[in-house]
Amino acid sequence: MEYILETQKLTKKYGQKAAVKEVSMHVPEGKIYGLIGRNGAGKTTIMRMISGLSTPTSGSYSLFGETGRAMGKMLRNVGVLIEAPGIYPRLSAYENLKIKCIGMGINPKGYVENLLKTIGLENTDRKKGAGNYSLGMRQRLGIGLALVGDPKMLILDEPINGLDPQGIVEVRQSLVKLRDERGITIMISSHILDELAKVADFYGIINEGELLDEFTAEELHIRSGRHVIIRTDNAGAAENVLRGIGIARIAEQPDGSLRVDEKLDETAEMAKAIVTAGIALKEMSINSVSLEDYYLGVTGGGEHNG
Ligand code: ATP
Repeated sequence: MEYILETQKLTKKYGQKAAVKEVSMHVPEGKIYGLIGRNGAGKTTIMRMISGLSTPTSGSYSLFGETGRAMGKMLRNVGVLIEAPGIYPRLSAYENLKIKCIGMGINPKGYVENLLKTIGLENTDRKKGAGNYSLGMRQRLGIGLALVGDPKMLILDEPINGLDPQGIVEVRQSLVKLRDERGITIMISSHILDELAKVADFYGIINEGELLDEFTAEELHIRSGRHVIIRTDNAGAAENVLRGIGIARIAEQPDGSLRVDEKLDETAEMAKAIVTAGIALKEMSINSVSLEDYYLGVTGGGEHNG
């Protein structure tokens, strides 16, 4: 697998205290990588180091396969939103973006309009100041500002923190769009696993400055016991059909339903295959478990600041 960002024993000490301890993480290209950890776990410190805003005490990292001086140049391919975005409150989204473009010497026709579309702010009043926007709109404007210059990678620190449910959905949609339409690699931090779980393809768990684990969304589902229950009028035939489309982890339950423990993002294909084979599909459900519980188990439980 190709990694756009890799860290080797990245460490940051403040005095005697290590905020980040020997973190070796791997961020694949074109994916959303969720960095999850409680408040104070060290997420911001890691993001500041890999954005070039702070120097590691020890350890190193590579960006786009480059290290050292060559990597320094690569930083211009990284868009960063750490803490509150620098927005001029009296200026509109359009004007804020325009100013950043001018500052960076970017002036192609329609550039700002395109950016506004990408972040879903194309219909905002060009005269209304961004200070009057909702928090979700401001956060998307912050992402828009980080996108000026067409970075290949975005680093977003807690972009959904403090947003209302609608704002969270909007930011999530923008991120998925950036990944799918522009192929941008996104690293996003949060202390709420259930929110990250709706967008991230890969995860890194940070606890007290240490990277405890890295895994894929698929692995998270399996580890947290997420599964699909499929009830049909013929379990044996349905099982064969599912095996026929490449699903191996199937178990017949005592009540005659089937439990599937993999490829949970392919439920539509499963349903279609069963129905196409002439088997009556009576029920299909994804069992919900709390990812939060799984995460608390990994990080040792205890008090939770979420
Ligand atoms: P949050 O979501 O609260 O920002 P975080 O996971 O991003 O949490 P960091 O901000 O990286 O955590 O902080 C990690 C640890 O390092 C904390 O204990 C924090 O107090 C400490 N720390 C961060 N910056 C500094 C600094 N400039 N000086 C001293 N200690 C610091």
